[in-house]
Amino acid sequence: MKSVLIHHIGTLVTGDIRAPLSDAASLYIQDGLFKEIGTGRTSADIVIDARGNLVTPGLIDSHVHPSFGDFTPVQNATNWISNYLHGGVTCMVSAGELHLPGLPIDNPDPNLFRSLALLTRACYDRHRPSGVKVEAGTMMLVPGMKRADFEAVAAAGSKCVKFIFYSYGENPDEQADYVRWAKELGLKVKIHSGGVSRSGVSRPAGADVILKLKPDIVGHINGGPIPMPLSDMERILLESDYLLEIAYGGNHSIAQTFMKKVAEQGQLHRVILGTDTPSGTGVAPRGLLRTMALVASVPGVKPEEAVCMATGSAALAHNLNSGFVQEGKPADLVIMGKIQGASGNTPLESLRDGNLLGISMVLIDGQLVIRDRSLQTPPPETGARIIGH
Ligand SMILES: [Zn+2]
Repeated sequence: MKSVLIHHIGTLVTGDIRAPLSDAASLYIQDGLFKEIGTGRTSADIVIDARGNLVTPGLIDSHVHPSFGDFTPVQNATNWISNYLHGGVTCMVSAGELHLPGLPIDNPDPNLFRSLALLTRACYDRHRPSGVKVEAGTMMLVPGMKRADFEAVAAAGSKCVKFIFYSYGENPDEQADYVRWAKELGLKVKIHSGGVSRSGVSRPAGADVILKLKPDIVGHINGGPIPMPLSDMERILLESDYLLEIAYGGNHSIAQTFMKKVAEQGQLHRVILGTDTPSGTGVAPRGLLRTMALVASVPGVKPEEAVCMATGSAALAHNLNSGFVQEGKPADLVIMGKIQGASGNTPLESLRDGNLLGISMVLIDGQLVIRDRSLQTPPPETGARIIGH
């Protein structure tokens, strides 16, 4: 496999929210992995001059709803995943494959829901649209499941299970079993929080339900699309250590109000970002970039911390191997910069002002998957360029 050298990096974000910035101005990649963070090398199979741009880990969308390859029935749209790549997304995590037309969610059969998770997991393991890593096979939890169902999806490599179509409180022993089995098997538990979903049959879940259930991740705490009351959000912030997902498809006003409180409490390491799309919100190739900019503009949040919420923190939340610029990790990267006419002297200052950044190049596993510019963002003022290969 080819080696890649990137130099003249303006700013390097590590993905680690506890140490978000690196001093390194160069990277060396070999066999798809980061080999040297900061390097004295001068040659490689491909040499990229980053020309002072921002380099970050590939973005991870913590909340998507995949169905069949690069097609989504919810908006009858094709190539949505390829278009998200042009929004900087190199990996996405399913929050349930719930958009299959006719899926019987009103009278759910546990065998069918287990099979759906296994089928989508197997398909996306063999098919990466435009190279994007899709972590599918998130089993939606319905009454009547057995430990064997959890064992089957864990063995298949699924990362999460999800509460959405479940009557909380009707069978507290069963819901406690589900959470325990998931934890024992290394599966993360995510819950649809807030008001009812587009389906009309999901169950509302505010602080009372969530604090009793003890999930790992509170899905779209700012609403999917309707949030719980702000006072409930604050209870979850203060009374638990659950991860808090901010979603593009939710209420942006309450997201900013809530994020201020998260920052005041020193809990930014608990925040991850997702789009909650495709959905009624649509297909949103720039959705994760926009959410990152939204959070970066909140007082108390540094822009590099917002980048980490969309990279390393998301990787830790879902037990993924990517999300960090670290030796030995998969070389998934975005090179992006300030857009002409935008405020700020640097890409991070522009992001702090709530602006999108312009994507120049994207790498997945050390392979250049976008080499000229993104088709979904304006170009950066000064694009990176390949100077040797
Ligand atoms: Zn969702």
